[in-house]
Amino acid sequence: MAALVQQYLDLIRSEHAGVAEGALASYIPELTTVDPDGFGVSLSSSDGFVYESGDAALEFTIQSISKPFTYALALDQIGQRAVDAKIGVEPSGEAFNEISVDPATKTPKNPMINAGAIAAVSLVPGATPDEKFALIREFYSAFAGRQLEIDPQVYASEKRTGSRNRAIAYMLASFGVLDGDPDDVLDVYFRQCSFNVTTTDLARMAATLARGGINPMTGRRVTDAAVVRRTLSVMVTCGMYDAAGDWVSAVGMPAKSGVGGGIVAVLPGQVGIGVYSPLLDAKGNSVRGVRLCRSLSEQLGLHFLTVSRDSRATLRAVYQPHDNIRVYETHGDLLFCGAEQVVRTVDRGCDDFRVGILDVSRVDDIDDAARGLLSGMSAALRDRGKAGLIVDPDRVVIPDGSEFENIRYATIEQAVDAAQTFIREQFSDR
Ligand code: GLU
Repeated sequence: MAALVQQYLDLIRSEHAGVAEGALASYIPELTTVDPDGFGVSLSSSDGFVYESGDAALEFTIQSISKPFTYALALDQIGQRAVDAKIGVEPSGEAFNEISVDPATKTPKNPMINAGAIAAVSLVPGATPDEKFALIREFYSAFAGRQLEIDPQVYASEKRTGSRNRAIAYMLASFGVLDGDPDDVLDVYFRQCSFNVTTTDLARMAATLARGGINPMTGRRVTDAAVVRRTLSVMVTCGMYDAAGDWVSAVGMPAKSGVGGGIVAVLPGQVGIGVYSPLLDAKGNSVRGVRLCRSLSEQLGLHFLTVSRDSRATLRAVYQPHDNIRVYETHGDLLFCGAEQVVRTVDRGCDDFRVGILDVSRVDDIDDAARGLLSGMSAALRDRGKAGLIVDPDRVVIPDGSEFENIRYATIEQAVDAAQTFIREQFSDR
């Protein structure tokens, strides 16, 4: 079966292989010597299975694709409040290497432009550049599921030619945004831009984001879901240089590109994608990379704003095993909107039964909002002279020691028995 997906990927890649538009990045000599024809794509499913097509084993430098990961590391290490005090989350509308800060806050507008990325490096804990870099490397490697190495020539070249980044770092220091020596911070920034990666590394890094911070290949939790949510948010608004609007409309995935020719794209909960082709458009994004992602999104239905499922799907079945007893069977992931539908459906049918049984034994996951709504349902029914019971063998709604323990049953049979007893005791007219 995997061959079917492979054929799809090969076909989509081949559709764009002939495109020769764009130019190699030329701000350092190393990037002008890469093979302009290099073109690879990797796609990781959320359980870590990777499909590869074309030059998926070819290494290139990560460049700006490093930015979301160092931002995530700063969030992970010092918390969102401390990071927000130094780096904004607004799209800048300026070039990625603009020497500017937000005029009001005097902090970089977002972490995806160089000013914000350099500030993020300075927030990573470490007494020396080596210590900071070790943490960054460990973090990226945990995302990729293998130890990443830097390209020493690219690093040396970045360092030699980085006047503009130096100007940015010194400007940030003058505004009190950078802690420590700007040259030390820059040294780490130049190193992080020089990591060699393949499209498969990027796909795995993306899949780790798609899984809310758990690397599906290694099973390791690299960071927590709140860090991932914030990181993906700035990727949506600021990840594709000045083409964020076009990208979100046409492709619809949080993403980040780099002048090395790579793009990382994430469909939360579903897939991670890594693409490489070094010919860049005027905005700095890989020409074939963008086109390939666009086709993948269109042909595989990967746009994150595709409205695919009606939340009524949460209710799997509604039935009456006996007079006056109605069972509401739910399934899948229960979030606020799904739980709201369940509560309203029960409310609407409430005149037709004396005991309502909510069966959540097929629910995979639930959030706090849904849990709160569903566990409050029995009290609402009690106020109307009815009873509400819940079949919850895995304790997705009613945890151990909960005040609602007395309405929880492990099987539907037990709950129906209890419902019949309740009816016998409360309604002696029957
Ligand atoms: N090393 C590059 C810089 O900081 C990265 C640029 C990029 O990929 O956008 O200028």
